[in-house]
Amino acid sequence: MSILVIAEHDNASVKSATLNTVTAALACGGDVHVLVAGENAGEAAKAAAQIAGVAKVLHADGAGLGHGLAENVAAQVLAIASNYSHILFPATASGKNIAPRVAAKLDVCQISDITKVIPSAPGPSAVPQGEQASSGAAQRSPGPDTFERPIYAGNAIATVQSGDAVKVITVRGTGFDAAAATGGSAAVESLAAVADSGKSSFVGAELAKSERPELTAAKIIVSGGRALGSAEKFTEVMTPLADKLGAAIGASRAAVDAGYAPNDLQVGQTGKIVAPQLYIAAGISGAIQHLAGMKDSKVIVAINKDPEAPIFSVADYGLEADLFHAVPGLVAAL
Ligand SMILES: Cc1cc2nc3c(=O)[nH]c(=O)nc-3n(C[C@H](O)[C@H](O)[C@H](O)COP(=O)(O)OP(=O)(O)OC[C@H]3O[C@@H](n4cnc5c(N)ncnc54)[C@H](O)[C@@H]3O)c2cc1C
Repeated sequence: MSILVIAEHDNASVKSATLNTVTAALACGGDVHVLVAGENAGEAAKAAAQIAGVAKVLHADGAGLGHGLAENVAAQVLAIASNYSHILFPATASGKNIAPRVAAKLDVCQISDITKVIPSAPGPSAVPQGEQASSGAAQRSPGPDTFERPIYAGNAIATVQSGDAVKVITVRGTGFDAAAATGGSAAVESLAAVADSGKSSFVGAELAKSERPELTAAKIIVSGGRALGSAEKFTEVMTPLADKLGAAIGASRAAVDAGYAPNDLQVGQTGKIVAPQLYIAAGISGAIQHLAGMKDSKVIVAINKDPEAPIFSVADYGLEADLFHAVPGLVAAL
């Protein structure tokens, strides 16, 4: 039994979500292969080969794969899909763009956003009467078929079992530790790149440049909410704290919607899902949609002047205070 992980990369290096996806793949058992589909992506393939636990890297290189266009990458995955019992993507914007295309073409149900792999019980597996992600697939694949995934903004955990021959899965990064980026020595095998589908083409990208760590990879995040009151105040109050801690900056949706922070900083159900070592929420009430994106953080600190704010129910440390005094005070004390 082999498991395929679709690497997320920028042709030069592998993005961190790939490492968490490899851990999920290792939990499925069997040999873990990583597909690096890109253009001039030799360095990314080499980096993938060093990930601990990876048995083989498949490197497909072609002009149509350079920008991760979903139509082309999905076709590349489909070209080798029959060799695999499980195909895993990071549950990122890119993975979520490609995985459904692969699942649809294979006529299987996608299993989305898993946070746990339930090891298969010995003996023949039976699909229980509960929630099933099964289609009429004729043949049962080996390996685990049962997974946990959060539903209702993380307020409930569903256990789903799939009877499909191939499991097409997206993996929530915060549910699995990152595999070590070094220590492996997998062989890199070249694959013929699929032809460009011609259905979409890359026009351009505008990338926000920041000296700060990327939100989903940061060990410390300081997040601001509606209470900041303006974009100027958001920057004036939150930036010195982030600078002091070497942290990424996050924001609630209310802060983003009000234009205090750019939308790539939004944390939550419709923003980014994060689980840093330390998450400091300043002037954020703790609506369930925000909690859905950060409640797996190791240590949560909440600063809010309302003692009834729901954020205090998930906080390890709560400070009932006016953030305009508390945050500069914290910066001065650090
Ligand atoms: C489908 C859907 C998806 C959503 N997705 C997201 C998402 O991804 N992320 C997200 O964040 N939200 C999301 N929301 C919105 C969410 O429901 C809340 O509206 C939002 O999180 C509120 O943001 P906030 O906490 O900044 O603002 P508020 O709820 O207005 O809270 C502001 C807080 O600041 C406190 N405060 C005020 N002044 C001060 C001060 N001077 N010092 C200290 N504290 C102060 C107040 O006591 C209050 O608790 C979603 C909603 C829906 C319906």
